[in-house]
Amino acid sequence: MACVLCTSTNEAEFPAEMILHFPFSGLHALNKNGVFIYSKVLVCLDCGFSRFTTPEPEVATLAKGVGRHAKPWNPSKVLTPEGNNLRITRSAV
Ligand SMILES: [Zn+2]
Repeated sequence: MACVLCTSTNEAEFPAEMILHFPFSGLHALNKNGVFIYSKVLVCLDCGFSRFTTPEPEVATLAKGVGRHAKPWNPSKVLTPEGNNLRITRSAV
């Protein structure tokens, strides 16, 4: 898959640990802990554009934290930059 920004195929995947913090929208946001994400990040080694997919349980936690509901995820509706259906393969961790 080519980079969405510069179309380079010079990309590499890296394991990552991240904390997503809830946007500050008042004092009530101060009491919310961030959500830990363990995912792989695909980095374009030419322009630096990076992307990752947040795992489903963390998506639900983020949606709940911002006061919304997570919709059931349907990967067949996600298209690649080339317009093909996104194929998801899950590897054992
Ligand atoms: Zn790029």
